[in-house]
Amino acid sequence: MTGRTHDLAAFTAMTIVLSAVPVPHISLGTALVAVGANMVGGLAPDLDQPSAKLYSNIRGGTILSKIIDPLLGSHRLLSHSILGVALFGFVSKMLLDASTSFIIVNMEIVWWAFMIGVVSHLIMDTLTKEGVPWLFPIPIHFGFPPLRFFRVKTGGFIEKSLVFPGLILLNGYLFFVNYTMFVQFFKSLE
Ligand SMILES: [Zn+2]
Repeated sequence: MTGRTHDLAAFTAMTIVLSAVPVPHISLGTALVAVGANMVGGLAPDLDQPSAKLYSNIRGGTILSKIIDPLLGSHRLLSHSILGVALFGFVSKMLLDASTSFIIVNMEIVWWAFMIGVVSHLIMDTLTKEGVPWLFPIPIHFGFPPLRFFRVKTGGFIEKSLVFPGLILLNGYLFFVNYTMFVQFFKSLE
């Protein structure tokens, strides 16, 4: 999937979680940082490709990509697996813990938002022709539907005309059916 779709999918995953789980009371600052972390999480697994959207968005990104790419192996290996999710979880936890002294937000919420983004990325890539090596280092790429023929081509017509608008519709639907809850949630941010 393209970076744009992953962005939206990460956001959608957060909407789904907010709709399903009782929302804790958080500050506006935490909510804003969490939205940012969610977006970064949604793009993070593709840090194994030099053209990753995240690199072009940050200063010194090209240098960073030269350091990180070789560590993660070629595209869709470690960073697209359960092992990779655990690694992202561990490293981000350390980074967030280290920054608690100068960023006063609820880091636990920020961490969850980031991880929701990461997992959404792998779920979306599972729908593509290449599939995802969930059990890396076991070299099997899993995809859904199991028949490759029915899966989505990255950046292709189906992704742009069906998957992307479908995600927007899903967000709209979830906001609509949980309207009161979302209004209360936004009101409670302070
Ligand atoms: Zn990917």
